[in-house]
Amino acid sequence: MPKPAVSVFQYPRTATEMPCGPYAKAGVIVETNAGWRISRPVIAAARCVRCQQCWLICPDGAIDRTGESYAVDYNFCKGCGLCARECPAKAITMAKEDGQGE
Ligand code: SF4
Ligand code: SF4
Repeated sequence: MPKPAVSVFQYPRTATEMPCGPYAKAGVIVETNAGWRISRPVIAAARCVRCQQCWLICPDGAIDRTGESYAVDYNFCKGCGLCARECPAKAITMAKEDGQGE
């Protein structure tokens, strides 16, 4: 997988330039998961109420939002479980890794 381009932070000059959304888009982090993740979040689309909490809270920008659907980019997810903890609809569960990687 090619490394994504590194984003250069531009300090906002006006309120309209303030970022809206997560601090990084999914896939923007340069380092891919090294294989130490022990569990992974699984999103049950049928339970998802599209509140965006997981997308906003993921510290690694590993939740990808495309239209109304949310998906985890497992190349960058570290398995911290924050998204599952904060999901108000309990649509995210943490599953044990099978050791095979992504
Ligand atoms: S936090 Fe849960 S309900 Fe909200 S968008 Fe993410 S998966 Fe869907
Ligand atoms: S488990 Fe952590 S790193 Fe992975 S998608 Fe959820 S919040 Fe992001």
